Amino acid sequence: MKFLAIPLLGIGAGLVAAASPLPLVVADPLVVRQGELVRGALPPGSRALTLDDAPVTLTADGHYMLGIDRDASGDHRLAWVTPDGRSASRPLRISAGTWDIDRLPARLVNQNPNAAPNPFWEKLRKAETDAIKAARAETTPWPFWQAQFQWPAVGRISGVFGSQRIYGERAAAYHAGLDIAAPHGTRVTAPIAGIVRLASDGPFSLEGNIIILDHGQGLHSVFLHLSRIMVKPGEIVAQGQELGRIGTTGRSTGPHLHWGMTWHGVKVDPLPLLPPLPPRTDLAGR
Ligand SMILES: [Zn+2]
Repeated sequence: MKFLAIPLLGIGAGLVAAASPLPLVVADPLVVRQGELVRGALPPGSRALTLDDAPVTLTADGHYMLGIDRDASGDHRLAWVTPDGRSASRPLRISAGTWDIDRLPARLVNQNPNAAPNPFWEKLRKAETDAIKAARAETTPWPFWQAQFQWPAVGRISGVFGSQRIYGERAAAYHAGLDIAAPHGTRVTAPIAGIVRLASDGPFSLEGNIIILDHGQGLHSVFLHLSRIMVKPGEIVAQGQELGRIGTTGRSTGPHLHWGMTWHGVKVDPLPLLPPLPPRTDLAGR
């Protein structure tokens, strides 16, 4: 792979040239929010960063990212070795996110608990979830994630990360992404650069036409319900490059983009990473 890494780094350097420097994050304690993608930096020359004794990737210039689970809690610890060889650590505290929770009567559950398992559906679904898992298992060491994110589509926020319906005592899966509603055919562009790991216009049963982008070091974006796909697996895309068009394929009630992000499989909220929407855009709630 070494011969491939050299030209790839050359291309990558151009793609992330506009990255803004991340703030030094040595706050004590370091307070993070549920669902947050934390991006920070240690003094250059720091090494051996760990979170609760698990290694965390540090870039050559000391930058790191951490994904905080939507339901994470408790106290944790970041530890590293300083440039002059001393051990340093900080407590990491998790502050509660605020989620949009709908409590509904149990009788409204949209599912028949007595339905027999459907082998055809289960086989199809397994193939789809395996493809998604395989795409997210591939990640480049190149840190595309250091750039400032851009909106992947111009539209109205029609669904937020973490929202959830609870039917009586039974909680449905929470909404693990940001929904941007816009007319069918609206352009979808890369919020930051990445490598295409999945691009399927044979629609998946729930996700519809789907793209997964690898932003490096374990960070992936998924874009769902597209009407068209303009990229191919393995392609390196620049920030702002067109990926496809908004649609309503898969399980969707109207044209919108669902954008989800994962850090080593931990679902994180894209919205806090974005600059304000341009003022001409209607942002009038859900
Ligand atoms: Zn969604």
